[in-house]
Amino acid sequence: MCKKTLVSFAMYAALLVVFLGLINAVFNLGRFAFFGELLILLGLLGLGLVAVVGLNSNFSWSHKLLAGIFTLGILDLLFIKIIATTPISFFKETIIAALAGLLIALFSMEEEKPKQQVKKTHKPGKYIASKSGSKYHAPKCDWAKKIKKQNAVWFNSKEEAKKAGYKLDSCVN
Ligand SMILES: [Zn+2]
Repeated sequence: MCKKTLVSFAMYAALLVVFLGLINAVFNLGRFAFFGELLILLGLLGLGLVAVVGLNSNFSWSHKLLAGIFTLGILDLLFIKIIATTPISFFKETIIAALAGLLIALFSMEEEKPKQQVKKTHKPGKYIASKSGSKYHAPKCDWAKKIKKQNAVWFNSKEEAKKAGYKLDSCVN
């Protein structure tokens, strides 16, 4: 089993325990609080489904969503604990599972960061020019670095840049 599968598996297990614990806690409540909490629980379940689908499709937001769900789960559980008139069984276990899930989600978010940084510095071509300029540059040129992202035009060859009407800067050799 690779690390990613293991992390997803741990996350599913934590989600399952948290939801079972929450369901158990909500059904312990008196009538009035029960309906309010049931709505919150259904909302959380819906978010959980979206997060699981996102996790399966490797969407980067799924870990953020999961972190949010676990945080809400913890808050909700603490709230239920306050309003409940009878003791909640598996309270500690559910809180621990939610904290574990939250940690895994935060850890996974931290791991995804380097990937995003690579994306930021990704150069979609060999040469760069500004929409408002007349010359094209090598990306390492000081002028190239001053070009704003929304004004940047990228080329893969000198011919391409020439065709677009740009002259080569002295930084291009
Ligand atoms: Zn230049």
